[in-house]
Amino acid sequence: MKGRTKHKMNIGTLNRHTSEMTPQDQRRFFANENGDPLHAAFDKKSAVHPGARGWPLDPESIGEVWSKILAGEGKKEKRAAYFHIPFCETHCLYCGFYLNPFKAGEEENRYVDYIIRELEMVAETPFIKSHPFHAVYLGGGTPSALSHENLFRLLKAIQKHLPLANDCEITVEGRVYHFSDDKVFACIEGGVNRFSIGVQSFDTHVRRKMGRIETGEKVVKRLEYINSLDQTAMVIDLIYGLPYQTMEIWEKDVTKYIELRLDGVDLYQLNIFKKGRLEEAARKKTIAPPADIRMQADMFASGVEIMKRARYRRLSISHWGRTTRERNIYNTLALSGKVCVPFGSSAGGWLDGYFFFQDNRLDGYYRRIDEGDKPIAMSMKQPENNDLFKELAGQMELGRCHLKELGEHYGFELEEIFFPLLEQWEKVGLIKINEGWTELTLAGEFWQVNLCQALIDYFAVVIELQPVNN
Ligand code: SF4
Repeated sequence: MKGRTKHKMNIGTLNRHTSEMTPQDQRRFFANENGDPLHAAFDKKSAVHPGARGWPLDPESIGEVWSKILAGEGKKEKRAAYFHIPFCETHCLYCGFYLNPFKAGEEENRYVDYIIRELEMVAETPFIKSHPFHAVYLGGGTPSALSHENLFRLLKAIQKHLPLANDCEITVEGRVYHFSDDKVFACIEGGVNRFSIGVQSFDTHVRRKMGRIETGEKVVKRLEYINSLDQTAMVIDLIYGLPYQTMEIWEKDVTKYIELRLDGVDLYQLNIFKKGRLEEAARKKTIAPPADIRMQADMFASGVEIMKRARYRRLSISHWGRTTRERNIYNTLALSGKVCVPFGSSAGGWLDGYFFFQDNRLDGYYRRIDEGDKPIAMSMKQPENNDLFKELAGQMELGRCHLKELGEHYGFELEEIFFPLLEQWEKVGLIKINEGWTELTLAGEFWQVNLCQALIDYFAVVIELQPVNN
C-alpha cells in the first residue's frame, strides 16, 4: 500500500449505491441474465481500450506542463517511445486511422527530417536520459511505405538519441505491399527485431473487397521469405468479422497463420468506425454486411480454440506467441499505462499523469517544429486514480486480475468495492473467482473491454463521488 488512507465500504452501503443507480448505469454495469453470456452479455460491445476520462488542459499551459515533465527524471520504470508515420499508399475500407496519402520523395523526406528534429529537441533532457527505453514502436499509417534510406536514417537517429535498453524491442509495423527487400534489410540493419505485419485475412476476395492490394498467395510468400531470414520476431494481425469472411474463411485464416510458423499473432475484432467508409458502404449495401456481434463471438471462440489446440502461449486476450522471440513488450507497456513518449504527427503518448496527442495536420506539425515547440495539440490530465485503472486494465487484458493485491497496493478494498458486480458476473458466467484471482471465462474474454470499463466507471460512481474513509 502506498501509505494512503484505506478506503473501505460495507456491502450494505454498496447495495444502497447500486440500487440508487439509474437503470442506464445498471444495464452498463450488470450483465444480461439470459443464459447466453458469450453472445449477449451486454446490449452493446465496447471496442476501444478501457480507461477513465481525464480533464483537458488549457492549451496555453500545455507547453509549460510538457517542459516541466522533461526537466524531471520521471518514474524509474520500463518505458516506450512511439513514432507515428501518418501515410498510407491506399485507404483500406475498414480503417479509421487513415490520414494522408503516401507521396514518395520530397514529402516523405521532409517528414522524416522533421520527426528526427523532433527527437533531437528532447534527446538531451533529464527525462529522456534518466532511464532506458524498453520498447520502440514505429506505427501508423504505414511505416513500411517509407524508402529504405528513410527507414534506416530514422532508426539510426532513434538509436543515437534514445537510451535504449540492450534488449529493447524495436518494432516496425507495415504491410506486405511494397515492403521490398531493401526496406526489410534497412530495418534489420537499423536494429529492428520485430515486424508487425497487418495481414487481416489471407483470402484474396476478402482482402480485395477491403482495399488490400496483394493476393493472399503473395502475402504468404512474402511472410515466408522474411521469416526465413530468422532475424526478427514476425508477428501478424488478423481481423475477424470482415465482410465476405465466413466462419470457414476465418478458420482458414487462423490455420494458415499456424502453418506459417511465425512468432506471434493478434486476433482482432473488426471495429466499425462510426460514419467510416465501411459503415457507409454497408448501409448503402454496396458491400456484404460485416459479421454481427453473435457471429463475432463465435469467430472469437473458434480462433481461441484453434490457438489452444496448437498450444501457443497466450500473451493477452487477443495475442499469442509461438516462440520466446515474441515478447509483445510495447503493447503490454502501452496497455498498462507506462510512460510512452510520442513522436510524429498524430502520435499519442502518456507521461507523468498526462496524455498528449500531437497535431494531426501535417502543416501544423511542421510549423510547430519550425517554431521549436513540441507539436502537441491536446493534453488531458489523467484522473487521480489513473495508475490503478491502468494497472487494472493491463491485468484484465491478460484475462485475469488480482483485486486484493491491486487494492492493497493502492489503498482500496477492491474486492469489497466491486462485490455486487463480481457476484453477478460470476453468476452469469463471465468470470470465475479462483484463489484470489478474478479469471475471465471465454465469454468474459470476449466482453473484456465492457467488464473493465464497468469496473472503472463503477469505481468512479461508488468511490470518487462518495468517498468513505476509515
Ligand atoms: S489499415 Fe493500415 S494501411 Fe490500411 S489505411 Fe489503415 S493504417 Fe493505412
